[in-house]
Amino acid sequence: MEFLDLNRQYRIIKKEVNQAIQKVLDSGHFILGPEVEELEGQIAKYCGVKYGVGVNSGTDALLLSLMALGIGKGDEVITTPFTFMATAETIVMCGARPIFVDIDSATFNIDVDKIEEVITKKTKAIIPVHLYGQPAEMDKMIRIARKYKLRIIEDCAQAIGAKYKNKKVGSMGDLGCFSFFPSKNLGACGDGGMVATNNKKLAEKIRMLRAHGSRKKYYHEIIGTNSRLSTIQAAILLVKLKYLDEWTKVRQKIARHYSRSFGKFINLRAPFVASNRTHVFHQYTIRVNKQKRDKLIDYLKQQDIPTAIYYLLPLHLQPSMKFLGYKKGDFPVAEKAAREVLSLPIYPELNINKEQNRIINTINKFIIKQAREMKNKVFHFRAGADNTGLTPFIN
Ligand SMILES: *Cc1c(COP(=O)(O)O)cnc(C)c1O
Repeated sequence: MEFLDLNRQYRIIKKEVNQAIQKVLDSGHFILGPEVEELEGQIAKYCGVKYGVGVNSGTDALLLSLMALGIGKGDEVITTPFTFMATAETIVMCGARPIFVDIDSATFNIDVDKIEEVITKKTKAIIPVHLYGQPAEMDKMIRIARKYKLRIIEDCAQAIGAKYKNKKVGSMGDLGCFSFFPSKNLGACGDGGMVATNNKKLAEKIRMLRAHGSRKKYYHEIIGTNSRLSTIQAAILLVKLKYLDEWTKVRQKIARHYSRSFGKFINLRAPFVASNRTHVFHQYTIRVNKQKRDKLIDYLKQQDIPTAIYYLLPLHLQPSMKFLGYKKGDFPVAEKAAREVLSLPIYPELNINKEQNRIINTINKFIIKQAREMKNKVFHFRAGADNTGLTPFIN
């Protein structure tokens, strides 16, 4: 079994994808062709915003967003240490300083109640990450941003289609950044990204930034870069976008099946997704007591069941971020999550009857085996530390 088998999806939509690629090949219009504009319009509509700007990657979506807001040297940007490197890396790339805020243990997203403590005169923006596909707590964040006149850049790389109070991610901040990296819920066959916004000026600026700061060819108004979305990728994404909601529903179904089954076998309170949010399950992540995580990973691997850890080392402890001066213990909730999280295979083409049930049964066997080894100690799943039951936990 593979953690993610992209080939299965391709086999299902092969004809359509191949046709879309062939059409671009025949047109010869490879950079910013009509499919890019079409996709920009469709993604904007999908997210409920006015503008979409296609760029070369999710990383560039973040970088160009920061640049478009004029964020640079001497500025501070607040974000979470429990995310993919790109979120904080781009803050450094544009010359500003990442200021980390610990996460909420139940959702793994930035703890909004701790944001105000770190705001200074230098703070310019907040980058929430909708990790694993679940939206961060946006209402409180938006109130804080208004109060201190801060911008919000949503990192939606893992959460396309997820809703917070009926608003799609990417539509609540000043800018929403999407990634079409192949493994994402909407993935291209190469790199790709998009910025979504309601702000016409910002959209226009990002359009310039992605094309060397120019609106007219060879007339460069500002310093930009090369970050265009390839027409072939846009054509492929247009095919896939039609299926995205369907695929998301299957992901949610698989997640429900995991949670229910774990509940039946081992006293797990099913993961609770707040009623004002939808989770698009880019990852299905459980928590495992740190002494047992490696054992469980090995046990599953022996049965040909792959797992993944997102993320093993929080960003404030990464060698490249050492210059920021953070140390172990600064963000205990994120550090604990890094020791305990374990993501199980979840993708729309995963076979529920064969593969998913095998994963569930194998985990169940592991827990029984552990319990026997420890004799009288009772092993069971329990809810996350804050008791909201958002995350399955093997203790
Ligand atoms: C994937 C990802 C990115 C970067 O996207 P790329 O397209 O790979 O550059 C940024 N942030 C998060 C949270 C991601 O998961």
